[in-house]
Amino acid sequence: MLIRRIETFPLYYPIPQPYGDANGIKSYRSAFFIRITTDDGIQGWGECEDWLPTLQKGFEDRIIPYLIGKNANDRTQIVRKIAKWHARSASAVSMALTEIFAKSSGKSICELWGGKQRDMVPLYASFQSYSERSDWVKHSLHLIEEALDSGFSSIKVKIGGKTLEEDRKHILEVQAILREKGQLAVDANGSYDYATAIRLIPLLEQWSNLLWLEEPLPIEQTQNYNLLRQRMPLPIAGGEDMKLAADFLPLLTGQALDIVTPDLLHLKGMDEYWGTLNLACHFGTRISPHAYDGALSRLYAILAQACLVSWCKMKPDTIDPVEWDVMDNPFTQLLPLKPVNGEVTVPDGLGIGIELDVERMNAYIWDGSSYR
Ligand code: MG
Repeated sequence: MLIRRIETFPLYYPIPQPYGDANGIKSYRSAFFIRITTDDGIQGWGECEDWLPTLQKGFEDRIIPYLIGKNANDRTQIVRKIAKWHARSASAVSMALTEIFAKSSGKSICELWGGKQRDMVPLYASFQSYSERSDWVKHSLHLIEEALDSGFSSIKVKIGGKTLEEDRKHILEVQAILREKGQLAVDANGSYDYATAIRLIPLLEQWSNLLWLEEPLPIEQTQNYNLLRQRMPLPIAGGEDMKLAADFLPLLTGQALDIVTPDLLHLKGMDEYWGTLNLACHFGTRISPHAYDGALSRLYAILAQACLVSWCKMKPDTIDPVEWDVMDNPFTQLLPLKPVNGEVTVPDGLGIGIELDVERMNAYIWDGSSYR
């Protein structure tokens, strides 16, 4: 089963009303998909996230010429080679080759991972709370109310990009509309030092509807995470930017996190991803895969959560929700996944089980012009 063709789909969308988090305001969303076809016509999709000129040039000049004619089943060898050039591109190739292997075996991705434990996976509505608008709090609350009306009961909002007092006022208003209706996670994107992070305790300890506090500190501060975890009255989550399963070891052995949030687009491929998820399970750490940047990686997060054994023996169907991007992002609609009452049905069928919308994709093809 030889690789015959690789197509690239660099996608770009300028956001009319920019939004952001503690890392800054985003003026665009981008995505990069690849489709690999074998000589017997089996196709697999991959996705990665980076600066589009880097990805397009890398695939055209080096990765595609390398892949043509290779045995699609030599996934480990191929992914290791490409990861030396560009790790994120390797992740896309590993996704496509894994789907091709599943399809050629007559199996779904879930079957490769040992089979589904559940048919529905819970989601949380993920917000980029900040904007350049002077009424950003009011606008944030409006978006949250829309998500609640559409059936979501778990949401995540951003902190760490404003003063503690501004964020505190925002969270109080969010809780005023949410408390009776759902659960709340807050994400600081690694913005605080330890001394500042503990000042969140009086705010957060008053509520019982909190899902978790995400990345209050830079993720490499394992010891401070451990100390904070002992004082914070809710679970602490993090790890979305890790590149290797081994990167999680200090956090796991240091008992620094309650919930790990690995992201397939940031790890070195599918096998690294599944290895990371299993590693966390062995340490008894809960998992909510991070899936902000991509539609296909979000689907893989859903498939993974469908296959993982519950962390709670008393409630065998308990699994943490997967991130669902509810901001203005047309790439969310590239896959026919529809949240209903804050849950999504896990697709059946060969490979990933559903089809990417190529027609919609073609409407957002990046024209090659510069952007920032
Ligand atoms: Mg985060």
